[in-house]
Amino acid sequence: MTCTFCQIIERKIPADIIYEDEYVVAFRDKNPMAPVHVLIIPREHIAGPLAFDGENSELAGRLIAAAAAVARQEGLADDGYRLVMNQGRHGGQSVFHVHLHVLGGRYMKWPPG
Ligand code: 5GP
Ligand code: ZN
Repeated sequence: MTCTFCQIIERKIPADIIYEDEYVVAFRDKNPMAPVHVLIIPREHIAGPLAFDGENSELAGRLIAAAAAVARQEGLADDGYRLVMNQGRHGGQSVFHVHLHVLGGRYMKWPPG
């Protein structure tokens, strides 16, 4: 198994895991871009958002719901936060196990870079 995020789920690579349930695991990004930067991933290996379909799309909802739980836990509920899911080269995806970025603790510019 060479997927870094599958190895984090299996506790073979250390990570600061701050939330998990039957379907998803959340941990702090090793290179944070905001005061709070958490990645939410499904336990099932899905390559990226392009791989969501009618069979597995329930997991996309579970990622967003887990992000809401993490946002409350991290104190982001009042001021808000940004969710980002990158796909492929133009999207800036660098790890090919789908992940939802939760960014908060500072004002987020729009449009993104
Ligand atoms: P992407 O660019 O694919 O949307 O985001 C991948 C994210 O994963 C990056 O923000 C990167 O810092 C983070 N990342 C990559 N490898 C690891 C790791 O081994 N541990 C942690 N905690 N974060 C990682
Ligand atoms: Zn994986």
